[in-house]
Amino acid sequence: MTLPKSRRIAILGATGSIGTATCAVIEHLQAVDPEFDWVVHGISGHANLDLLAQLAARYVPKRVILSDPQCAETWKNGGNSIENIAFPAQSRVEVGCERLVDLAVDSEVDTVVAAIVGRAGLESTVAAIRAGKRVALANKETLVVAGAVVLESLKTSGAVLLPVDSEHSAIFQCLAGREAPRRIVLTASGGPFRDWTTEQMKSATIDQAMAHPTWRMGRKITIDSATMMNKALEIIEAKWLFGVSADQIDVVIHPQSVIHSMVETLDGSMIAQLSPPDMRLPIQYALTYPRSVVGATEMLDLTKNLNLSLLPVDRERFPAISLGFEVARVGGTAGAVVNAANEEAVGLFLQGRIRFTDIVPACQMALENHTFEQTATIDRLLELDRWARAEVRRWQDRSIS
Ligand code: NAD
Ligand code: MG
Repeated sequence: MTLPKSRRIAILGATGSIGTATCAVIEHLQAVDPEFDWVVHGISGHANLDLLAQLAARYVPKRVILSDPQCAETWKNGGNSIENIAFPAQSRVEVGCERLVDLAVDSEVDTVVAAIVGRAGLESTVAAIRAGKRVALANKETLVVAGAVVLESLKTSGAVLLPVDSEHSAIFQCLAGREAPRRIVLTASGGPFRDWTTEQMKSATIDQAMAHPTWRMGRKITIDSATMMNKALEIIEAKWLFGVSADQIDVVIHPQSVIHSMVETLDGSMIAQLSPPDMRLPIQYALTYPRSVVGATEMLDLTKNLNLSLLPVDRERFPAISLGFEVARVGGTAGAVVNAANEEAVGLFLQGRIRFTDIVPACQMALENHTFEQTATIDRLLELDRWARAEVRRWQDRSIS
């Protein structure tokens, strides 16, 4: 009898949309996969202490990281149990964002799920890659900010980077064992404003922007999907993940979110991956790769009319797409600046301080005003990240005064 091999997993950003879906996938694998012993070794959450404690109670991880200093203060003041919140005695609770890197490189961990949102996930994701882990990457912002540095680290560390983003998982699956593609076609739902005019979008409210037609996701990526900055970030992500040039990437609108992306081969075949929209599938594939294990998600029901459509993207109404191609083309420090400007602008929109249609112009403004550098260290990229955020705040102050 051979004993099951174990997979010891750290979920960075466990309390988020991807993080909780990852927990569900691991629970499913524990039930259906006899080949591996699936263990949640560590989890992190930033502010949702309640949910973090619930996850800890359910999975009893060895390590629990509470990364937000303010939330950590509340917890520390209350001891190991505040009000109704208590962590299992077997879990070591650690506080502060520097602990994320420590968990990412933990020698007992073989797989890191990078599911923190935004630039905040960069240090821990890069650390996991440098430590040679198997990294299931949801945090696309790390590649947008520091794709060149990540690729350099991958060459020497022995890490394996597996995409979780549904489009990139689709491309990864379509590419399996094939030579370089001629073209990669990213599909985009078009978000809630797919059929809106620019004039209508000027007065879009937060609730309208949050009403994504096909996916339930965290706040930031939901706004990114409405502006189509999400697709811009995904163009850049695809360039780094698959080693293609910007000219080999295309975007098409696919409102049903069933075709998750496509690859065109040199001789002209178009290969696509289809499934109902459910992030548990790409998460599971990243965890079990190269194996396919019985899934927990719905199968496509081919007895129904799927009514699948592919439409060209309107770059006039969604200028984010051209911006994404431009950043993918120039590389260097452009990704760090545009990502930071976008995070800042999305934050300002969610605070009701700028209009929906100000988000992409804020990114364009930061890109234009920055002094481009072709190569940069992580420290320099993070310096530019801070500069771009400040630049967007200055721009906003100027526009209201
Ligand atoms: P979310 O907002 O639901 O969750 C984010 C997680 O990060 C939470 O656990 C939160 O506690 C943690 N976090 C937030 N700020 C932090 C900080 N400053 N420091 C440390 N931790 C912090 O986001 P999400 O929708 O799960 O997205 C996570 C990542 O996955 C993003 O990069 C997103 O682009 C990507 N992604 C998400 C989906 C999806 O369906 N949700 C699909 C594809 C890619
Ligand atoms: Mg995606």
